[in-house]
Amino acid sequence: MRSTRTLETDVVVVGAGLSGLVAATGVAAAGRRVVLLDQEPVASLGGQAWWSFGGLFMVGSPEQRRLGVSDDVALALDDWCGSARFDAGAADGVGPDRHGYAWAKAFVEFSSGEMRRWLHDKGVRWFPLVQWAERGGHLAGGHGNTVPRFHVTWGTGPGLLEPFVRDALDLHRAGLLDVRGRHRVSSLVVTDGRVTGVRAEVLAPSAAGRGEPSARDVVGEVEISASAVVVASGGIGADHELVRSRWPASAGTLPARMLSGVPGSTDGRMLATAARAGAALVHEDRMWHYPEGITNHSPVWGRHGIRILPGPSSLWLDADGGRLPAPLFPGFDALGALQHITRRGDSHSWFVLNRTILETELALSGSEQNPDLTGRDLRLLADRVLPGAVGPVARFAEASPEFVRGRDAAELAAGMNALVAATPEDRGHVDADALARTIALRDDQVRSGLGKDPQVVATAAARRFLVDRVMRVAPPRPLTEPSDGPLYAIRLSVLTRKTLGGLHTDTSARALDGSGEVVPGLWAVGEAAGFGGGGVHGHRALEGTFLGGCLFTGRVAARSVAGELA
Ligand SMILES: Cc1cc2nc3c(=O)[nH]c(=O)nc-3n(C[C@H](O)[C@H](O)[C@H](O)COP(=O)(O)OP(=O)(O)OC[C@H]3O[C@@H](n4cnc5c(N)ncnc54)[C@H](O)[C@@H]3O)c2cc1C
Repeated sequence: MRSTRTLETDVVVVGAGLSGLVAATGVAAAGRRVVLLDQEPVASLGGQAWWSFGGLFMVGSPEQRRLGVSDDVALALDDWCGSARFDAGAADGVGPDRHGYAWAKAFVEFSSGEMRRWLHDKGVRWFPLVQWAERGGHLAGGHGNTVPRFHVTWGTGPGLLEPFVRDALDLHRAGLLDVRGRHRVSSLVVTDGRVTGVRAEVLAPSAAGRGEPSARDVVGEVEISASAVVVASGGIGADHELVRSRWPASAGTLPARMLSGVPGSTDGRMLATAARAGAALVHEDRMWHYPEGITNHSPVWGRHGIRILPGPSSLWLDADGGRLPAPLFPGFDALGALQHITRRGDSHSWFVLNRTILETELALSGSEQNPDLTGRDLRLLADRVLPGAVGPVARFAEASPEFVRGRDAAELAAGMNALVAATPEDRGHVDADALARTIALRDDQVRSGLGKDPQVVATAAARRFLVDRVMRVAPPRPLTEPSDGPLYAIRLSVLTRKTLGGLHTDTSARALDGSGEVVPGLWAVGEAAGFGGGGVHGHRALEGTFLGGCLFTGRVAARSVAGELA
């Protein structure tokens, strides 16, 4: 039988991703002893944020102003609420969305100045060309960003993590922060209704590199008593069965084959562990997965997929070759497009484009797919405005079997059908004549110079924004323009990523039970807390709000815990 070691500290933080690092360093900086536990080796410190693109939703920033973008808190909150579609009563402090709404209001405020000043003081900087994610395309009160707000961190995810890792090392040297990898929390200790510590399995040492799967052999056990426990364990995206079981029936069926946009550590197990100790989970059916995943040619974790960050010009076709309805254009409404696909029961969808669009508009999410921004390499960065695809995109176009090429629609359709092994009798067979007609109809709209097709109109409108014109949106020309050829079709798969629901928390990040009462001794932050309140995003997200949500919830929790222990 294994013996259980015991330990005593002030605060235990479960999970060393961005939210856990912010919470742990914040409490330790206030003079409290903190133990920060993670099931992965210390090599994976930083969790998902290290892999992230480092995009932050910011409002009214100097970067926006320099580009002539006018933005403010009122506009951003309107966009947020139009996307979130919080349940009735949320704004009046009623119902399960009341805390999510309160967090949303506070987060939009935080994003409009305080967040940037705080990070800037820590040495974080941003790529000056603000990007326009989730353009929406619905009516004014609906989903989407009215203006560009996606600020890519100089150094991407690793650049954002840098100051918090530096703080962690300083606090470690000062004896206030004890970081322990290979410790998986298996239960919370509850004494007289208060959370008073954790029990953790000690996992066998592992030489797994960052993000790689690590073994789960248990070699010991430790019980750590503490006055406060902060759950920062992330979402559920790596457990596809869990994702499937939470996917709302009204949104159809997720395909049998999906890609993982998160490392295996995003397993969601800790959420059930917290629930067993009395914490309530809310909005578990709200998720933010992407329809634009492609298989990574150099996988790090199981089923590793990469998300395409598309510009607006590609045609988006369902598995049978039909166009997705307006406004489900690339980069406009990720969840709307995903639900269209799952309601049809499709296993995949397609982008159809040409070489010029591929070179101008295709970008890939993730730090390792953006070596110029991650490595702060100005010479490489210049490639983004020069002719030709940037290196990682060019590599996918060459190496990935999911990129099909054709001189004309007939050749393209043949390649698409071969890739998915579809015969004319099958669902998921793309008819060559129908494809040629779809492309011709679109091209006639472009040739008209004006047009009624809302995608063609929106694409032309996007080019009024300098950044889009210079580096993100191809000039409006027919897809079949010979000098822009060949044609490409890219097979897109569903890629799991973010969990929008989670542990219900109040505005101090304290966990709540099923009756809405505080669970004494327990806090939750980051994705585990639905980025605040168990669902700060409501039903849809505006992008760049996840890293920001980790920063904000981590900071609020640190202050709340430090205040309670004072
Ligand atoms: C490729 C990629 C690109 C992204 N790009 C962006 C972007 O540009 N902008 C944006 O806003 N967001 C982006 N995101 C999302 C964002 O990075 C994540 O939502 C965020 O980093 C989650 O942080 P977290 O601290 O909540 O959880 P995580 O980073 O998942 O960390 C949780 C940690 O808890 C540990 N853990 C779990 N259970 C236990 C347990 N029982 N015991 C001990 N440890 C446990 C895990 O091992 C993990 O290390 C991206 C994500 C990815 C993967």
